[in-house]
Amino acid sequence: MVATTTAPPPAYFAVGPKPHEVCCPYCKQKGKTITRRFLLSCCMRRQYCSSCGEYLGTYRRPKL
Ligand SMILES: [Zn+2]
Repeated sequence: MVATTTAPPPAYFAVGPKPHEVCCPYCKQKGKTITRRFLLSCCMRRQYCSSCGEYLGTYRRPKL
């Protein structure tokens, strides 16, 4: 019937600008993320796994 679709990796925890301790969905390692500023905008930070370096999600600061 319905083909099993591969769910895209979750855009993880857009919860805050600081590193978070997560269990990486790619390498299964538990550790803190690395945040990097996205482009020139200081409002967006991308979070990466500190173990495998995979992109996990984006934090976007609400505009004031
Ligand atoms: Zn990882």
